[in-house]
Amino acid sequence: MLDTLAILTELAARLSQAAGTTRDVGERLCLLRDLVPGRLCLTNGFGIEGQLLTAHAAGLGDAIAVMTLDTGRLFPESRDLWRRTEQSLGVSIAAFAPAPGAVAALVERDGADGFYDTVAKRRACCDTRKVEPLSRALDGAAAWITGLRTEQSPGRKGVSFAVADAARGLLKINPLYDWTRAEVLAELAARDIPVSALEARGYRSVGCEPCTRAVRPEEPERAGRWWWEDEGSAKECGLHTPAHSAARDIWFRTPASAATGSPAVPA
Ligand code: SF4
Repeated sequence: MLDTLAILTELAARLSQAAGTTRDVGERLCLLRDLVPGRLCLTNGFGIEGQLLTAHAAGLGDAIAVMTLDTGRLFPESRDLWRRTEQSLGVSIAAFAPAPGAVAALVERDGADGFYDTVAKRRACCDTRKVEPLSRALDGAAAWITGLRTEQSPGRKGVSFAVADAARGLLKINPLYDWTRAEVLAELAARDIPVSALEARGYRSVGCEPCTRAVRPEEPERAGRWWWEDEGSAKECGLHTPAHSAARDIWFRTPASAATGSPAVPA
């Protein structure tokens, strides 16, 4: 494990140095294709970053596998964009869904919308619907390509081009780490790449439908994600944070609770 981590860390440093010489996304992805031995996987959640990366990946043939986490709670607009993207870019986006039995157990225990109750329940849902399917999606992968940008939130300020993901035993690559939202939008428009209908309605970060609201222009990009939670809690679903297995283990031992209604979306 130590040897593997050392190899990944050294390769991440080489990639970050090379990527620092260009801000062109296509060139950055070519670096991965040429320098990383093994399977390259890109996850697209149908936000603007995933769309730009998918367009560039499509230009590299089958060098990069494009996939999405089909949580079962996606916006209809995301499903529509999924279809339009495959048609317009000629790319196949593979779906990784939660295990039906795991979802049934989650809903029986927490209720259909138990994620509104507590952060622990919300994380249990994200674990079931996102984190576990991601583990399967990345099984055997050498690198995981994401749409993280430093500008997205204070918690993402330290994002760099490439890091060794020790827990997953692969490289985590963030080709847009130093891009602004305005730059991403400009390239999407210039290349006529399809974007979600949610974009024009103020959704600046797209997740599952019940957990995402539009944001006002003065709000941070990710303010619409899990908006009912305290600002002090990490507004992440667990894909980009260390596993919170303690919270999951505790929750999985607690009895079922009734579902509650959706908290009011701020005007
Ligand atoms: S974002 Fe919401 S619905 Fe989606 S997996 Fe997380 S808690 Fe569940």
